[in-house]
Amino acid sequence: MPTYDYECQKCKKIIEVYHSITKRLKTHKEADPETKCTGEVVRQFGNPEVVFKGKGWTPKYGKTGPSKRQQEKQFNEMNNQLNAMGVKEASADEVPPPTV
Ligand SMILES: [Zn+2]
Repeated sequence: MPTYDYECQKCKKIIEVYHSITKRLKTHKEADPETKCTGEVVRQFGNPEVVFKGKGWTPKYGKTGPSKRQQEKQFNEMNNQLNAMGVKEASADEVPPPTV
C-alpha cells in the first residue's frame, strides 16, 4: 500500500499514513487517531521519484534526440572532408575513423 504524507494545517505536523490510493484523509484525527488535534490535513506531493526526478516531464526530451544526431552527422561529414584532405587530427579520440 502506498504511503502518503499529510501536513496538519493547525499544528504543522507531518503525518505519514498508509492507505489506499482512492482514500483521502481530511483531519488530523483521521490520520492519527491518537491525536487530540482537530486541524485539517493536506496531502503532500513531495514524492521525489514522481515530481522532481522525472525528466520525461520536460518537453526538451524530444528535441535532444534529432539535434544530437544532426551534430554527429555534421561532425562525421566534417571528419570525412578532413580525411579526404589528408588531415587526421579530427578523428583522434571520440569518433573512430571511418575505415572502409
Ligand atoms: Zn494537527
